[in-house]
Amino acid sequence: EKGRDNAQFFTSDMTNIATQKFGFEKEIKESLALEQFFLVYQPKVLKEKHRIIGLEALIRWQHPTKGMISPAEFIPIAEESNLIIHIDEWVLNQTFIQLQAWQDEGRTLVPIAVNISGRHLVSDGLVTYIAKKMDFYGIEGRWLELEITEGVFLHDIERCIEVMAQLKALGIKISIDDFGTGYSSLSYLKRLPLDTLKIDQSFVGECAEHTEDTKICETIIHLAQSLKLRIVAEGVETAPQADMLMSLGCYIFQGYHFYKPMLAKDTALLLTKDHVV
Ligand code: C2E
Ligand code: CA
Ligand code: CA
Ligand code: CA
Repeated sequence: EKGRDNAQFFTSDMTNIATQKFGFEKEIKESLALEQFFLVYQPKVLKEKHRIIGLEALIRWQHPTKGMISPAEFIPIAEESNLIIHIDEWVLNQTFIQLQAWQDEGRTLVPIAVNISGRHLVSDGLVTYIAKKMDFYGIEGRWLELEITEGVFLHDIERCIEVMAQLKALGIKISIDDFGTGYSSLSYLKRLPLDTLKIDQSFVGECAEHTEDTKICETIIHLAQSLKLRIVAEGVETAPQADMLMSLGCYIFQGYHFYKPMLAKDTALLLTKDHVV
């Protein structure tokens, strides 16, 4: 309708986006080496504030000129290529370094959960990489947990079962992240060697107000109970949300109402016998 000029503009715009994305990928790769990335840790809390039963490692990118870039911005781009494997490995290595440091300081350890992309889970290198790092840093598998979203089960369930069995053999725990937003069928859930389901924060937000979301939380909790899986609610921001979830049978929480993600040095202060079960 608008003639040739417009088509021209569209084309150059598309090229522009592609170049930008390529530039972004290159920049992420370089930044990993330049130590512009760091991890923060968000506690998982059992029932009341003071009993921390685990941590989740979350990546942060402090860009020299653009400031803090959210993982919600760069992880989806990284997931389109093998770049996500570089990032996952960087996060795993960093997590092992942290566990070793806390272990050496004589702190009471809790498992640290790392987010792993589906692409990486079904790739060849994950189990070998983790086994090598456990050995190198002298860390037992029970201190590592992997959080995986449901999407990957759809693509290659047999491969997922195989890899997860190898991870379990190393003592590593496995959670399904953002549960309820993906496509898990009940038969998949039964076959996967899982430990935990994490209720997605989109259902937690309005769960205290007797909405459809309350029923979804209840259904997910019952499902976890019948499959003998642990259940964790993420994104818990208020006391009424925690109370509602407890009345539905969920006792492990993660969210701003308890703790925000924090730096390693602040997290370390929580790893004492009083705080940990
Ligand atoms: P996720 O794994 O579902 O992580 C939970 C996100 O919710 C985190 O955002 C966390 O900071 C945020 N959050 C925690 N408590 C609350 C709360 O009470 N209210 C609200 N509104 N949000 C809360 P973050 O750190 O920005 O990470 C976003 C997503 O990026 C993560 O979602 C995860 O999918 C991905 N991600 C983060 N770090 C990594 C990583 O190291 N590797 C990979 N592969 N993905 C990561
Ligand atoms: Ca997660
Ligand atoms: Ca999540
Ligand atoms: Ca998420």
